[in-house]
Amino acid sequence: MPPLFHPDVPLTALNTFGLVARARRLATLSDEAQLPALLADDDFRHGPRLLLGGGSNLLLTHTEVNASVLRIATQGIRLLADDGEQVQVEAAAGESWHGFVRHTLQHGWFGLENLSLIPGTVGASPIQNIGAYGVEVKDRLHSLRALSLDDGQMHEFAAGDCAFAYRDSLFKQQAGRWLVLAVRFTLSRRAAVQIDYGELRQDLAEHGVSAPTPLEVSDAVMRVRQRKLPDPAELGNAGSFFKNPVVDAAHAAALLAQWPDLPHYPQADGRVKLAAGWLIDRAGWKGRRLGPAGVHARQALVLVNHGGATGADIVALAEAIAADVRQRYGVALEAEPVRV
Ligand SMILES: Cc1cc2nc3c(=O)[nH]c(=O)nc-3n(C[C@H](O)[C@H](O)[C@H](O)COP(=O)(O)OP(=O)(O)OC[C@H]3O[C@@H](n4cnc5c(N)ncnc54)[C@H](O)[C@@H]3O)c2cc1C
Repeated sequence: MPPLFHPDVPLTALNTFGLVARARRLATLSDEAQLPALLADDDFRHGPRLLLGGGSNLLLTHTEVNASVLRIATQGIRLLADDGEQVQVEAAAGESWHGFVRHTLQHGWFGLENLSLIPGTVGASPIQNIGAYGVEVKDRLHSLRALSLDDGQMHEFAAGDCAFAYRDSLFKQQAGRWLVLAVRFTLSRRAAVQIDYGELRQDLAEHGVSAPTPLEVSDAVMRVRQRKLPDPAELGNAGSFFKNPVVDAAHAAALLAQWPDLPHYPQADGRVKLAAGWLIDRAGWKGRRLGPAGVHARQALVLVNHGGATGADIVALAEAIAADVRQRYGVALEAEPVRV
């Protein structure tokens, strides 16, 4: 059998930030039949390791990644059940997320349309419970199959076992322990579109669509995202760099007294979620650069690599922004991408 791992592999094309980095060793998982050999690899089992999907939510902070990197590239989409109203569909971890979303819509299986064009793989979608335009993956996820890299056992997780929260899950908390291999979704054959977002409504209106189908919602989401987010193929980035911070009600009230136009979203627990992009924009960071790292000119929440940036350049910019926001508003910003 050919060796699983290859030494000294460049990672620059494997992370959407385009950060300069190399892996000490890297293997590609394209078939679950490789799992026994993988589990028998001592360095992988017991040394530092990194599970890699599309690399669209990663911040490689060092130019040398001293780990066994496993790139997950397994493919396959299966219809498991169909009662005429709802379907259960399973996709392998290495499937492209957006490709899977469009596949479901083309088959008349609805529910993932608002999550169109999010980069990355199906296997990574539960890791930070991806979300956009009012829908999160947890709302449609039925269950998933994951291999414990601690004991080599396969586990089934129902959605309720995954500790899903805003951009968070059990798998993000226990990073590196669980290798997600397949994710199952419950989707509907009946269209029930969610278009409560101003930008979505506006785009549909501009296209003369008053009663959109899920496929039309997906098209609208794609257009809106293409307008406002930089394409990683042209300008390296990892999407939103900071999570929206959640503060207590008194803190929010004090901020709103001073800045009445601060976008804010009351939460079920009484706290208030604030728009991180607004805080960064108002602090004057939009379009600014620190060396090869910068804040996107149209979207203050997105940090970009203007060319040749290392993780250290992005970290320096992120820390400067976070310190400024803390000083101005007393709000702590937390990064969304996983730091490696
Ligand atoms: C332009 C742009 C827009 C974005 N928009 C959004 C958005 O709207 N909403 C949103 O939520 N996110 C968004 N993101 C972030 C990103 O697309 C998601 O987090 C996505 O799920 C990451 O998938 P990936 O395959 O690239 O994961 P990677 O970046 O490769 O990995 C992310 C994390 O998941 C782990 N991981 C990956 N695969 C597996 C697996 N099979 N098993 C176990 N662990 C695994 C990795 O170890 C790492 O910790 C955006 C990113 C970009 C670049």
